[in-house]
Amino acid sequence: MADLDKPAPEPKRSWADEAENVPPSSSETTETVATPPIAEAVDRLSIGGEDKTEETKGLDLSDDSEIKAVTTGNTIYASASTFEELNLSQELLKGLYSEMNFSKPSRIQAVSLPMILTPPYRNLIAQAHNGTGKTTCFTLGMLGRVDMKQKVPQAICVCPTRELAIQNEEVLLRLGKYTGVTSLCAVAGLPRTPITAQVVIGTPGTLKRCITSGQLSTRYMKILVFDEADHMLAEDGFQDDSLRIMKYIERSTANCQVLLFSATFNENVKDFASKVVKDGNQLFVKKEELSLESIKQYKVYCPDELAKIELLRDRIFLVAEKLAQTIIFVRTRKSASDLHKTLSDAGWSCTAISGNLEQEKRDTLIKEFRAGLTKVLICTDILARGFDQSQVNLVVNFDLPVKHYGGPDYEVYLHRVGRAGRFGRKGAVFNLICTERDKKVMDDIEKYFQHHVAEIPSWQSEEGFEAALKEAGLI
Ligand code: ADP
Ligand code: MG
Repeated sequence: MADLDKPAPEPKRSWADEAENVPPSSSETTETVATPPIAEAVDRLSIGGEDKTEETKGLDLSDDSEIKAVTTGNTIYASASTFEELNLSQELLKGLYSEMNFSKPSRIQAVSLPMILTPPYRNLIAQAHNGTGKTTCFTLGMLGRVDMKQKVPQAICVCPTRELAIQNEEVLLRLGKYTGVTSLCAVAGLPRTPITAQVVIGTPGTLKRCITSGQLSTRYMKILVFDEADHMLAEDGFQDDSLRIMKYIERSTANCQVLLFSATFNENVKDFASKVVKDGNQLFVKKEELSLESIKQYKVYCPDELAKIELLRDRIFLVAEKLAQTIIFVRTRKSASDLHKTLSDAGWSCTAISGNLEQEKRDTLIKEFRAGLTKVLICTDILARGFDQSQVNLVVNFDLPVKHYGGPDYEVYLHRVGRAGRFGRKGAVFNLICTERDKKVMDDIEKYFQHHVAEIPSWQSEEGFEAALKEAGLI
């Protein structure tokens, strides 16, 4: 880990779950929307590490060129085609087969797990597509490294939201069902008693508080994981808290392995991550491979905001009834509750979740959606990343993902799309376009990912929507 002392942080901004329904400051102007040149954009997520060539070796990934590996040191890692090859305990194998029902490792699991589990347990920065099983990589990593006989905290996993922390702990407990592992979910509301759980999964603010107050000892820490790591290290994300946590652990124990996992790492974050998490192995997906071809994306032009609501009511809800589950993304907390009210008043059954709801309410709504009791969920970007519900096959961008200054948020777009079509399943995305600014944002997204997004001929055309869903393989 690098020296983490740095200038005073900028004022914290809420992430993708804004309290106010105020348009971004760039308002309707299109000039302020930054479009990266395609070549530059391609470069930004393609593999780096040229400066390391002397000490690096490529891993043979010939059967799947989309993941590029840069390894450090002398360790040779063989990709694992079966879970048995990973030298996991019988208890963990049982968890994988009988609890998770997995038969063989996904590509990212095959490549990253040997790196994580082989001494000298190097740090790892790993990127892999949404829905390809990254959770299993770092969860098995933690379970594989924890000494089950020692009843002290040995692994920490930092996640951007309460929902993701809870979800990741659930995966840990299922995978580790036969190991006797103890765990704790450290999110807001946690009682202030000393923590003895072996694995602690939580949100950055709560974890930082637990660590700095001495409630959570870091002396025996073996492995520190950041899920959605690009966001955890981004300046407009959780950089300050994440660095504090890293620094604290670094001070109290030597050789704690750090793992960073995400589907997206833009150039800035990637550089920063490589500086902070030094001497590690790296796995990156080539920029051109990130467009998620398997999930069909469409855009629909709507004359005004009212038309967007009519479209939801008259088209999307009708088709959503035939589909498994749908997530509708909006930009602000207020638009989430307004849209929920409008649609409920019109007799449609749906729920809405955003950061201003009470925590228990958030948990209940998520549970209902997971159980399939609700089919349509309206939400802000608190669920854009990581939320894993395999039944979701339709995503609607009611508002396109934009950054604070009004330009497109490419990473969040990719993460939202990735809520549909988990682990190779089929999925569709409808992007609703209303203003000139929306058009520009959509254009920029298409250019950035070099991916043409087909247009539905008319927002009122039932046939248009049916054809789109047929093409996506959903009906
Ligand atoms: P992400 O890479 O986006 O974090 P997740 O870890 O949430 O993806 O995994 C997506 C889905 O794929 C989950 O429902 C998970 O149970 C499933 N999955 C992960 N690994 C495997 C595997 N080896 N075989 C079958 N399904 C898997
Ligand atoms: Mg994930």
